[in-house]
Order: sequence, then C-alpha cells, then structure tokens
Amino acid sequence: MEQWPPIPAYALDIAGGRITVVKVSPLVHPDGDVCEGIWDERQRCIEIDAKAPPERQWFAFYHEVYEMRLSDSGLDYVLADKQREAVCAALAMADLAALRRSLPQKRPVKKRAP
Ligand SMILES: [Zn+2]
Repeated sequence: MEQWPPIPAYALDIAGGRITVVKVSPLVHPDGDVCEGIWDERQRCIEIDAKAPPERQWFAFYHEVYEMRLSDSGLDYVLADKQREAVCAALAMADLAALRRSLPQKRPVKKRAP
C-alpha cells in the first residue's frame, strides 16, 4: 500500500513561473462535466478534485501540468483535442509510475507466533 504525498501547491510553467494548484469539490468544467482536473488558462491555475483518491489526484495534477505546457508552448494549436488528451494522459501515466516507484511502502504488520 502506497502513502501518497500531498499534491504540490504550485507547478512551474515552461517559463519558470508559478502556477497555483487548488483543490476543489465538486470540480465542474465550464461545459458542465464533472471532472478530476482542470487547467484554467485565463486564471493560470490548475484545479484538482479534492475528493478524488490520492492516486487519481496525482494523475490529474500531472495531466493538467501537461495541458498547461502544451497550451503555453502553442502545441495545442497543432493537436486535435483527442490527440492532446492522449499526449497528456500518456505523459501523466509515466510520471505517475515514476512517483509510485519512489513511494515508501507501508509494510503489513507481522503477527508474532503465539
Ligand atoms: Zn485533458
């Protein structure tokens, strides 16, 4: 069983600037969909669903960091929505796997023989 660290309070954009990360619940996209993460380009902040399990929050955090990087770099203009989502999901999965490997493992308590 993993012990996930708290989600960072900010992320760095591609110019090295700070992007605020906030937890919100429920998290509702402007189009009405409930979701686990939002990159708000106008407010320059990332919102994460506060009630999602920790692993899902980390996935959403990484995913939205890549959304921010793609929009800041202009790459989102050459990617269709589905392509952009797939790129963000693939990169987020790789970061999540690396984070999971680095986590301390909770060891099950060994019972003593009677
Ligand atoms: Zn996305």
